[in-house]
Amino acid sequence: MMFLKKYSNYLVLVILLCVAPFSYAQQFNEGDVLFQVSTIDALMEGVYDGDMTFAELSEKGNIGVGTFNALDGEMIALDGKFYQVKSDGKVYPVDIAQKTPYAVVTTFAADSITAISGINSMDLLKKRLDGLLSSKNLFYVIRVDGEFNYVKTRSVPAQTKPYRPLTEVVKEQSVFEFKNIKGTLVGVWSPAYSKGIGVPGYHMHFISEDRSQGGHLLEVDVADAVVAIDITSDFYLKLPLDSEFLNADLGGDKTAALEKVER
Ligand SMILES: [Zn+2]
Repeated sequence: MMFLKKYSNYLVLVILLCVAPFSYAQQFNEGDVLFQVSTIDALMEGVYDGDMTFAELSEKGNIGVGTFNALDGEMIALDGKFYQVKSDGKVYPVDIAQKTPYAVVTTFAADSITAISGINSMDLLKKRLDGLLSSKNLFYVIRVDGEFNYVKTRSVPAQTKPYRPLTEVVKEQSVFEFKNIKGTLVGVWSPAYSKGIGVPGYHMHFISEDRSQGGHLLEVDVADAVVAIDITSDFYLKLPLDSEFLNADLGGDKTAALEKVER
């Protein structure tokens, strides 16, 4: 009996580990941290240079979205690898010495896994994902692996100083369209009350299975995919300490401008 008592905890753990990946029930793993660098409003204001390297960022998470210093493209992190989708549409591996002015990452641990299919627009995908979130008052990281009938993404060209606001820069964005492509969407869901800090609602990036194409998601038609959601109930905000951030005017409400930038 002593043997059983001693090992019963391990047995429970082993059983949980075996069952967890196949469980559709939502669990709350406390302590999952969403790590964010700077704020979306700072990026909107043209604070395109940060002081955090990807070497440092990679210690904070293995999945996420963001951008690069000088706003040089869209960043997507997946399975511990960081990718840069430049405005030429190509995907480059990220040098760990590169820095980011805005990024959101976590160490992914799925709390729920759900199969989806036949979702032919971004709006419908958002509605479907809404139904999978436990509450609108938490942060989540979402990955959607599968086959897509259609994906539309964008990337932005690297900027030179003096930096213009993001609403101006996105007018020069490059748009890419892919048909019948396998890949992964990485998304962060931020609650409405995080306005000014994060992008309220969904902020998703795409990367193809062969890691050759991707960008900031504008539109999508999902054929068949698996949605994994990580509830990140802890939130860590790392603010830059350089003069650009310190002197930026972050007082106003940029909600309307952000709407334009995201679409
Ligand atoms: Zn983006």
